[in-house]
Amino acid sequence: MSFSPCNEGPSVGLSGPMSTAAGTIDNLREGSFAALGTVFLTRLPAAPLPAPYVVGFAPDVADMLGFDPALAGTPGFAEFFSGNTTRDWPSDSLPYASVYSGHQFGVWAGQLGDGRALTLGEVEHAGERFELQLKGGGRTPYSRMGDGRAVLRSSIREYLCSEAMHHLGIPTTRALCVTGSDQPVRREEMETAAVVTRVSPSFVRFGHFEHFYANDRVDALRSLADHVIDRFYPSCRQAEDPYLALLNEAVLSTADLIAQWQSVGFCHGVMNTDNMSILGLTIDYGPFGFMDGFDANHICNHSDSQGRYAYRMQPQIAYWNLFCLAQGLLPLFGERYDEAQRGERAVQDAQRVLEGFKTRFAPALETRMRAKVGLETEREGDDALVNKLFEIMHANRADFTLTFRNLSKLSKHDASGDAPVRDLFLDRAAFDAWANDYRARLSHETRDDAARADAMNRVNPKYVLRNHLAETAIQKAKEKDFSEVERLAGVLRHPFDEQPEYEAYAGLPPDWASSLEVSCSS
Ligand code: AMP
Ligand code: MG
Repeated sequence: MSFSPCNEGPSVGLSGPMSTAAGTIDNLREGSFAALGTVFLTRLPAAPLPAPYVVGFAPDVADMLGFDPALAGTPGFAEFFSGNTTRDWPSDSLPYASVYSGHQFGVWAGQLGDGRALTLGEVEHAGERFELQLKGGGRTPYSRMGDGRAVLRSSIREYLCSEAMHHLGIPTTRALCVTGSDQPVRREEMETAAVVTRVSPSFVRFGHFEHFYANDRVDALRSLADHVIDRFYPSCRQAEDPYLALLNEAVLSTADLIAQWQSVGFCHGVMNTDNMSILGLTIDYGPFGFMDGFDANHICNHSDSQGRYAYRMQPQIAYWNLFCLAQGLLPLFGERYDEAQRGERAVQDAQRVLEGFKTRFAPALETRMRAKVGLETEREGDDALVNKLFEIMHANRADFTLTFRNLSKLSKHDASGDAPVRDLFLDRAAFDAWANDYRARLSHETRDDAARADAMNRVNPKYVLRNHLAETAIQKAKEKDFSEVERLAGVLRHPFDEQPEYEAYAGLPPDWASSLEVSCSS
């Protein structure tokens, strides 16, 4: 572990229990977001979590941060990552909660903010910088009616899913660890408190920009946009309009992200603008879900009664959210125009950039779908073939993950390898008709079955975080057995590999899984 020479600001958390024989996290520093100043954040220590213990720990995230993985076994680890040592930190380097606003379920919600998240600082390692944030660290000035806590159940889900997404190759915030405590927390029923340590280059959301726009703080809006450009998109500075170029980056990365979600059957559940990352990362895991049986109208969030965030709605919701972002950035656009024209031309520019969502999303999804069904070449009718597959999957509620995974076993010559995928369809005749068309299409491909299967298995995961798998790990963790959390995290670290000893984790969900409900309560 190294000191970071180029990062300004004091190092924090240096003294205390983390300075153990196994090493210290001596590369934690003030970050560049914190340097934006008090308009953006409030500093405060975390509320202590009594007698915390480690529930889950991701050694590869520790490695990414330059931490010695042996730290997790040291006595101070759970204390540190529950925020318990922060009350001893100097007041000017305390953790902070940031302020943002947002549209929730399509309605302007006004000021929100980190109601239970505290950023500890920034770590630099191997030329990369990451912010470390405790989710569930206690009340902040932005907690509104909330208690500032996160429960064990939702913290385990966030930990498992952010790591699963990363290993699927989908942009996401990461999770270093989950700590738990016996401290009771009231939700629908009594649960216990936990903290997830989230890791991300940035936690800036669309809602941060909306906040300063709504409050008519153009100066702060500009500082925030400059921060994001300087830190993440320096090439925007060369553009005619750097802020418009920033919007364009958000449009493109968001379009790519949603194409990736759709291609693995992932639903976010609460795509409010305060849960949209300016970097196009998956952020704020609440009532998310990987679909089992495919239903285009699937709503993973029990609290989403209108189905605003249903699977098939997610692309257009992302587009809608980008409009909100564009609106927030609007005062910064068009500085090169003369005053009389500026307003109108800035709007036109923004609209043009937003249109780019459509031209990015459709081909991004098409490319992924083509790879998923194992087509190397492009031919007319490919779209219709893929759409038809989705149509019969929907009609049969065929398992999303298994359909694509098992499709790789199908032979281009005959029906000898059809069974594993065919058996997922109640309407066998519908599947057979589609398989005939598919085989006809495959006859135009030069790849043999083995090479096609190999390529398909690298894009169609065998293991995803199905709700029932998370639930089993959660139930055991509630009884203080954390082995299943780690076992499952380990399986999900290799989602494309055959792992014969974990075949059961790739199977259809058990009957009890259909009664699982995931809501906003977390
Ligand atoms: P979400 O939609 O879950 O991302 O949360 C929306 C807003 O509510 C964010 O500003 C959160 O920080 C805040 N929030 C959610 N749960 C709590 C809680 N238990 N205590 C304080 N704030 C919360
Ligand atoms: Mg949120």
